[in-house]
Parts: sequence; C-alpha cells; structure tokens
Amino acid sequence: MSEPRSRALLAQLVAFATVSRDSNLELIEFVRDYLRGLGVDCELIYNAERTKANLLATLGPRVAGGIVLSGHTDVVPVDGQAWTVNPFCLSEEGGKLFGRGTADMKGYLASVLAAVPIFLAHPLRRPVHLAFSYDEEVGCLGVRGLLEVLPQRIPRPALCLIGEPTGLKPVLGHKGKLAMRCHVHGAACHSAYAPYGVNAIEQAARLIGRLGEIGARLAEPQRHDPRFDPAYSTVQVGVIQGGTALNIVPADCRFDFEVRALPAFAPQEVVEQLQDYAERTLLPAMRAVKPDTGIRFETLSAYPGLATPADSAAARLIARLCGSEAFGTVAFGTEGGLFDQAGIPTVVCGPGSMDQGHKPDEYVSVEQLAACDRLMDRLAAYLSEPEAP
Ligand SMILES: [Zn+2]
Repeated sequence: MSEPRSRALLAQLVAFATVSRDSNLELIEFVRDYLRGLGVDCELIYNAERTKANLLATLGPRVAGGIVLSGHTDVVPVDGQAWTVNPFCLSEEGGKLFGRGTADMKGYLASVLAAVPIFLAHPLRRPVHLAFSYDEEVGCLGVRGLLEVLPQRIPRPALCLIGEPTGLKPVLGHKGKLAMRCHVHGAACHSAYAPYGVNAIEQAARLIGRLGEIGARLAEPQRHDPRFDPAYSTVQVGVIQGGTALNIVPADCRFDFEVRALPAFAPQEVVEQLQDYAERTLLPAMRAVKPDTGIRFETLSAYPGLATPADSAAARLIARLCGSEAFGTVAFGTEGGLFDQAGIPTVVCGPGSMDQGHKPDEYVSVEQLAACDRLMDRLAAYLSEPEAP
C-alpha cells in the first residue's frame, strides 16, 4: 500500500503536545501558516485569555449548502500511562501509526488538511468549511465560541461532519451528558453526641440511594431506545469526599454524579427529582437539628446528545460518501450535539477506533488513514457536482 497522503501532516500534528490543559496555539498557527501557503485565509477565534483558539476557514464559493469538517485539536493527557513509544512523535509498526491523538482525532484533522489542495483543485460548487476547536476533551468548551460566530461567518451549511473515530462508519447519534456536583453541609460535633449534629455523609448517602432509584426508573423498558447501548439513560456517582475522623460527625460531604442521557431525555429532570427529594424529605429533618445546614447542586459540565434521523438528507449524504447505510451510534460524546443544536444537521464519521482513544499506545491504522483520504476525495467530487442529489 502506498503511503497515505495525510501521513506527513499527521506526524506534524502529533508533535504538538496539545493536551487540553495547555495552549493549542502552536498547532493552530501551524495550520494557519499551512493554509496561507495554499492561499487560504482563516479566522482564529480565541478564548478570553488568548491562550487557545478555534480555527475557521472556507474553501470554495461562499454559498449555502456547504460541508463543515469539524474536529478538536486537543488531546487527553498521557500522565501515568504506560506508553512503549514516545506519545508525541509519530511511529509506525505493523501497519499502525502510534501517537497521542492519532485516533482521537488528529488522524482526521491531518486527512482534512492533506485534502485542502484537492478541494482547491476541484471546481467546487458548494464550500468546505474547516472548523477546528480546542477544549473538547474537557466538556466541549472551545467549540461554543466558534458556534457563536458561525452564523455571521458562513452561509448555512448542509452538513457538519464530526471526524471522531468511528472506523469510518456513519454514526448518527450519541447520548448527551450532564455532570453535577452535590455539596451537603451538615453540622459537626463529637461522635458520642451524634444526634446533636447533622451527619453530612449520611445525608449524602440518602441522596445517592435516591439517585439509584431514579436511575432504575430510567431503565424501564418503555423508555428504551434500541439505537443506543445501553438502550436507556444512565446515572452514575463517580467521586465522593467527606469526613475527617471517625469520632467527629462530618460537617461536609460532596459527591459528583453524571447523567448519560438519550437524546430525547432532558437530564436536568434527574437533578430536579433529586432536588425535590432533598427539599421535601432531607432538609426539614436536617434543619430541625441545625438551621444553617444545606444541600447545594453545581453543574460541572454538560453537552447535548445527537440523534440525526436516518431518513434525513444528512444521513443520505454520509451514507453515500461512506458507501454504507449501516448507521450506528457511539457511546462517547462529541461536539455534534452542539452543532445540531445550532441548526446544522450533523453526523459523526472518522478514521480509527475509540477503543484506542485515551489509552497508552493510541494508534490509527495506515489503512484507516488512507481510507479517510479517499473519503475526502469523494467529498471533493460530490461538492463539484452541479446539484445536491
Ligand atoms: Zn475526540
């Protein structure tokens, strides 16, 4: 097999250690300069501190009906992971290209960038928009700034193609996520006088028990959507902290929980039910002992789900480009729900597999990268056709 067109660019992108906590500007400036070299202007949309930026560029005529090629430039950390190769230096073995972000999702970004000369060489009738973001891995934060300005910058696109790794299979949906923190403030005292205090851990335990009951109701068969795995919305507590010593009634306890919501389910409902339980059942008893006790909820992060209909024009188009109507869903979240919420029909399709994402020795296969390059060729041909079918 000949070398994928995007391989050299992938090596360059992997060499920028764009872990979400750090700046992505070196990578973004590299992309800007690369595009400039090809005669393409782009706009950088910075965060408030100007330490990170999204990149937006348009190839072809500035008309409606274009395709947004969307990907995030940040990667997850490698700390504490047992890598056997340098994560920020692309290496190849056995048909696999190793490096942090090769699957999630610099392989796709490299394929898009390597296709820019192809797009420019085609008589495009509808445009390609490049939309590269930052801070996806920490709650889809960066792309929100890009989406704010997008309607003023580009005529209405027909489709957004999120290149998260799906093995290049067309994916139409994923669940949304709401991450919450609950603070329980009780009242401390010597444990020998436990009834005179308010035990924050015990109250937190009641809330967590209630979450389990709410979660069990979400799993009832009539609420299932078989397109997803698991086929229902789920609730999970992931972190708990509280107490200092066994002989002190703990004054504070906090726990973090998340709701992974089917696209049709509003995860805020779970929080409302829990708040209701706290206010009606727990707080009156707590405040009867000590008035200044409380239970407080804080949103940590949230992104919406995605459920593009299988009979939509967006689904037909991605099926045509992929040569497959075997539509799937993925368990992980993407920026797709936010594009969809902004009124842009969105699908997910990219090279590699999330089985390798976020792990040591992350890789994308040479075959997948080459196949994504061919997908870009088909996209260029499609956008050069006189009319959308
Ligand atoms: Zn990703």
